[in-house]
Amino acid sequence: MKIAILSRKRDLYSTHRLVEAAKKRGHKADVIDTLRCYMNITSARPTIHYKGGELKAYDAVIPRIGSSITFYGAAVVRQLEMMSVFCVNDSVAITRARDKLRSLQLLSKKGIGLPITGFAHSIDEIQDLIKMVGGVPLVIKFLEGTQGIGVVLVETAKAARSVIEAFLGLKVNIMVQEYIKEASGADIRCFVVGDKVVAAMKRQAKSPEEFRSNLHRGGTASAVEITPEERSMAIRAAHIIGLNVAGVDIVRSNRGPLIMEVNASPGLEGIEKATGIDVAGAIIEFIEQSTEVDKNRSSGKG
Ligand code: ADP
Repeated sequence: MKIAILSRKRDLYSTHRLVEAAKKRGHKADVIDTLRCYMNITSARPTIHYKGGELKAYDAVIPRIGSSITFYGAAVVRQLEMMSVFCVNDSVAITRARDKLRSLQLLSKKGIGLPITGFAHSIDEIQDLIKMVGGVPLVIKFLEGTQGIGVVLVETAKAARSVIEAFLGLKVNIMVQEYIKEASGADIRCFVVGDKVVAAMKRQAKSPEEFRSNLHRGGTASAVEITPEERSMAIRAAHIIGLNVAGVDIVRSNRGPLIMEVNASPGLEGIEKATGIDVAGAIIEFIEQSTEVDKNRSSGKG
């Protein structure tokens, strides 16, 4: 098979591991810089050009779209879909996952456990918004934040009012969320591929003063056993968002597991190093199975 990895840099751990895993299984793998792709949106024959020529035909694409290029990256993935290339995650699901509020709304409709979350536009209702999520302490989040940036823990009602007022005044989209204190600065990252959790790690914030467990914020990772409930919740959440490959973050609360977030381009370094599992290999095997099913379907076998 010819596999393309859409990524800004070939030397990123995740990109490098996907290339390695594809080659190990006898496939050709190229790294395509998402931002160097340009598109010809012509009737009946949509194409992508890359660095001066038409992009060659690929059997499958693994999109690794960073949050700063979601719009352009999703357009490139959409163009590949129009060209009938198998994309591990499709453009609609990638866009959905990037918007935390949209994702939570979709998950809530399906009864998935979530922290109580509020969203408002007007500053007139701040008091009630704070009450709605159970009062302080509470967490304020930028809708499109990533790696823990724009996630703020607020401990007093006075501070909550000022911070919410400031963000709304600056026209930043934020959500206000119940603080899950009993998580004690830890969360569980479940790496979903297809209909399996292939690896899971516990991330722990670096110090008792820090509540965000992100590895980019100095958190540490270790392998963890997840419960059957957490496993099925992670798989359901990924599927509700429409992702085949997803990093589903779960916090353990007094009322059971709650979904914090579903990531469309989860990093491989933390999870592979913490668990010793070949996650990149699992993604390539998923592509092999999915494209095989497609082939059988079009040849009438399946
Ligand atoms: P990001 O997408 O920037 O990683 P998250 O919403 O996942 O943002 O939050 C980052 C981290 O902060 C989480 O992994 C979790 O450890 C902690 N956190 C976020 N929201 C809450 C909350 N409501 N209660 C407790 N901890 C939280």
